[in-house]
Amino acid sequence: MANSFDVVVIGAGTGGYVAAIRAAQLGQQVAVVEKQKALGGTCLIWGCIPTKALLEHAHALKVIQNAKEWGVVIPEGVPSIDMTRVHARKDKIVTGITKGVEFLFRKNKITWIKGTAQLARGSRVEVVEGDKQTIDAREIIVATGSSPRSVSGVVVDHTRIITSDEAIHLPRVPKSLVILGSGAVGVEFASIFRRFGSDVTIIELLPRLVPVEDEAVSAELEKSFRKQGIKCLTSTKVTKATAGANGVELEAQGADGKAQKLSADILLVATGRGPVTDGLGVEQVGIAMERGYVKVDEFYRTSVPHISAVGDVITLGKGVHPQLAHVSSMEGILVAERLAGQEVRPLNYDHVPGCTYCDPEIGSVGLTEAEAKARGYDVRVGSFPFAVLGRAKMAGETEGFVKIVADRKYDEVLGVHMIGPRSTELVAEAVLALRLECTVEELIKTMHAHPTFSEAVGEAAHATHGAAIHL
Ligand SMILES: Cc1cc2nc3c(=O)[nH]c(=O)nc-3n(C[C@H](O)[C@H](O)[C@H](O)COP(=O)(O)OP(=O)(O)OC[C@H]3O[C@@H](n4cnc5c(N)ncnc54)[C@H](O)[C@@H]3O)c2cc1C
Repeated sequence: MANSFDVVVIGAGTGGYVAAIRAAQLGQQVAVVEKQKALGGTCLIWGCIPTKALLEHAHALKVIQNAKEWGVVIPEGVPSIDMTRVHARKDKIVTGITKGVEFLFRKNKITWIKGTAQLARGSRVEVVEGDKQTIDAREIIVATGSSPRSVSGVVVDHTRIITSDEAIHLPRVPKSLVILGSGAVGVEFASIFRRFGSDVTIIELLPRLVPVEDEAVSAELEKSFRKQGIKCLTSTKVTKATAGANGVELEAQGADGKAQKLSADILLVATGRGPVTDGLGVEQVGIAMERGYVKVDEFYRTSVPHISAVGDVITLGKGVHPQLAHVSSMEGILVAERLAGQEVRPLNYDHVPGCTYCDPEIGSVGLTEAEAKARGYDVRVGSFPFAVLGRAKMAGETEGFVKIVADRKYDEVLGVHMIGPRSTELVAEAVLALRLECTVEELIKTMHAHPTFSEAVGEAAHATHGAAIHL
């Protein structure tokens, strides 16, 4: 006889495990099928957690390298990085957090079925590898996530031509590293390995780094990266990459059409991620797909009754669905609440915070200046540089700014874009401002403590009305 559950979740990433916990909190009998040895998926095992741990190591090294400026006396020698210890600390953090999810499963009486799941007809899930069994499910949530993808002419060999999955475990700091793609993953690894001592080159097909960000943010990042010695080749296409025993030979074409050759110890391919549906049986049950993604509506229902899907594996059929941990978790919670009979409202994807933890950090939410103009708003903008902020001076982190994009007619805040110290934290205030449909005036009237980095947000609001106090 098949085991039966109210809700069966396939995949225990930030979409799946959060959906499972919320469903269990709401009284559902829940099972999660996960094929990895640990819970947490990309974010916890290969993504957010290990990369941000490595970035904290890079930040620690930066502070120590600048010890003189801080009046800290280091007796002898040049500070350097010990990758064995770095990985030991990072892995301990990852294990601690994945074990934490196991604890939460036990606490919420969620059954973890260790194996690979396949969708079957009649609202059933077959576990085809691992703890093989057939499960009856009242509802199924597909949360199988994504995996790295490459571009034509570049074959990942996992040794010389690698993805982020290997980059988080590199045993040695490569002498030279070329990074293909300047999205969040690419620029974060650029910051990590440049600080660790690699000679880093970023190659980006589009005309600017972090192309989804506001243009002013891209320009500021490129300025900072160049200052740090990171080479930025924008409007450049890699046409071929060949891995050999000693490194990788690359052929690329710049905007002027001229071919150029590059070589590096390691090539990191950071050109995006594709959905994971291989062997999932989507065809068997007849789920509608789009470009390989599971197609869902705004309540994350697939075309097949009783099967929902969330996270990196989905498309809503309009625009690009953000592949972010917090997005997948919010979607998971919404589905769990809907399945438990609660009233739910669609998420507003204009309010998704984007955080990129490179150095300097980027935090953004809402429309960029160009997007706001394209949507027909009469736009006004204001920005405030960290360079004149007392707290930033104390921290020795004065690069960057906070920029507000607002609608002139109603004074509504449409977007906030920041690059500089603590931007990934400061953006939280901006997310709330957008959710509450705040005006610039309301941001001005919101008191910001002194001396804090958050004063830059208040000052940017003043600047949007044409009168920053400290400029
Ligand atoms: C290097 C890197 C850094 C990142 N940093 C950030 C960040 O700082 N902030 C942020 O918000 N996002 C970040 N992301 C993105 C984030 O990790 C993903 O958006 C998030 O993990 C998506 O969650 P998910 O649940 O949809 O899928 P995943 O986390 O990919 O989880 C899917 C799970 O399903 C399992 N699975 C797949 N198929 C089956 C099957 N048939 N049977 C059983 N199990 C199956 C997989 O083993 C996996 O555990 C980063 C990603 C990378 C690669």
